[in-house]
Amino acid sequence: MATKSKKKKFTKLVCQECKKSVYFTKKTKAVEDKLQLSKFCKFDQKHTMHKETKK
Ligand SMILES: [Zn+2]
Repeated sequence: MATKSKKKKFTKLVCQECKKSVYFTKKTKAVEDKLQLSKFCKFDQKHTMHKETKK
């Protein structure tokens, strides 16, 4: 069997309020829907929804 190169896939999550705060998280292959996490935004000084974004 050929050895597969392990690629680390990171997903970029962007704050939906200011669009400035960015989080990076590992995405498991089981997740196909867009990730949406509540993270603390240092710009808004509160927890906001951070959504997965594409390049
Ligand atoms: Zn924000």
